[in-house]
Amino acid sequence: MAVPFRRTSKTAKRKRRTHFKLEVPGMTACPNCGEMKLAHRVCKACGTYKGKEVVSK
Ligand SMILES: [Zn+2]
Repeated sequence: MAVPFRRTSKTAKRKRRTHFKLEVPGMTACPNCGEMKLAHRVCKACGTYKGKEVVSK
């Protein structure tokens, strides 16, 4: 089995890991309440989508 010739440096490891992120992409502010919501989906905070849908909470 092949084995790495050199230990991966801290910098190389950290640079590689800049690509993994925690946040879910596609978040936008709700135009109705300003809460962060998933794009193209009904707002969880106020239950609206392009006007009003889903029973208001
Ligand atoms: Zn909202």
